[in-house]
Amino acid sequence: MELHTFISDLIEQKRDKIIELSDKIWESPEVSFQEYKSSEYICNSLEAEGFRVEREVAGLQTGFIGSYGSGKPIIAILGEFDALTGLSQKKGVAENDPVVVGGHGHGCGHNLLGAGAFAAAVAIKDYMEQTGLQGTVRYYGCPAEEYGGGKILMASAGLFDDVDIALSWHPSTIPSIWNVSSLANYCVTFKFNGTSAHAAAAPHLGRSALDAVELMNVGVNYLREHIISEARVHYAITNTGGISPNVVQPHAEVIYFIRAPKKRQAKDILERVLNIAKGAAMMTGTTMDYTIEGVVSNLIPNTTLANVMYKSLSAVEVPAYDAFDYQFAKEIRDSLSPEEISADLAGLDKETSMKLKDNVIADVVAPLGNSVMLSGSTDVGDVSWVVPTMQCLTACWALGTPLHTWQVVSQGAMPIAHKGMLHAGKVIACTAIEIMQNPDIIEKAKSEWKDRLIGEQ
Ligand SMILES: [Zn+2]
Repeated sequence: MELHTFISDLIEQKRDKIIELSDKIWESPEVSFQEYKSSEYICNSLEAEGFRVEREVAGLQTGFIGSYGSGKPIIAILGEFDALTGLSQKKGVAENDPVVVGGHGHGCGHNLLGAGAFAAAVAIKDYMEQTGLQGTVRYYGCPAEEYGGGKILMASAGLFDDVDIALSWHPSTIPSIWNVSSLANYCVTFKFNGTSAHAAAAPHLGRSALDAVELMNVGVNYLREHIISEARVHYAITNTGGISPNVVQPHAEVIYFIRAPKKRQAKDILERVLNIAKGAAMMTGTTMDYTIEGVVSNLIPNTTLANVMYKSLSAVEVPAYDAFDYQFAKEIRDSLSPEEISADLAGLDKETSMKLKDNVIADVVAPLGNSVMLSGSTDVGDVSWVVPTMQCLTACWALGTPLHTWQVVSQGAMPIAHKGMLHAGKVIACTAIEIMQNPDIIEKAKSEWKDRLIGEQ
């Protein structure tokens, strides 16, 4: 029997269990570093499948590693399970309708990501058991992808140091290989401190920290024209100093994300933003402190691994969608703007985008080389600096669905998403086994990875 059929059968046998795990995580959306239930669901499921589970790795309460097998090669499968704030949404509903107003929701599909990675790890273990294939498969339970970067902490604790290859995926709209870089990201908090005063009786005695934040933001908005166009700089004022206009605000705080294709480019922009913050403090007679909360690295692509994963993606059958899936996808699509829909097709080659132009679900695989993931940041980047890493994307949502929206949450516990998740599990498992059976792939991927790291620092 061919590998992809063997693996597909293994995963289909456990289909209900995998879907149940994903839906349980969807139903308890938990945000960064608070994924207590979600991580426990996955730990328990791994133990039930015969994995040895080490909890609270790298000092993270919700970080864990499940292992099966022994010795080399060591394959890491990366799983995420954190949700987003403010995106609570009922499933299967094609309009914005929260379960809890202002509550959390799985707006990036990490319930599927965690359970799909679990499907892959279990299928690899089952294959090893049945065929005697040697090596180690590890499921890395990685908290706080959205804010905090669990993988950054896990990587700096050395948890990936003995790993040969890392694999993962992300729920998306078009089956494809994610062999493009992502943006490096500096997350920095700026705190300004001034002096409070009565804003009418004695404004001359006050020194406004809120003025400093506003002037800093104005300065950074003028900076935009003079930085590389691929950079992205955005901020949120997290402390305005109070809600009383008649008090000069003594404390104010703003968080910045400073992103660029390379870590060193983001760092250069950060230096200039720091000068602006210092200037804002001087202008207002306040003081400024800053804290670098985290640095996410850009992804290091790997064409050797992309080719192997693309072979698996092409071999595993694209899920069969039924009339219900198409109807629901159409309803979701009707809630999207034409701009959102065309943005989803923007990174595709002409032929594929013509093929998908009028589809509501992508049922074809995008050729290798298409860059279908928009340029955000991911802490998978930090794993890719330590070990050759590759990811695929599968169709879990209606074509055009943008990330971090209620539409993602609504679809995330529906059959279309379950099918995409199982699809990803199969592709990752086939890729891992192909790699475990061919040590030369590991050597080639590592040598490409070393070459690519030169000049990144
Ligand atoms: Zn995500």
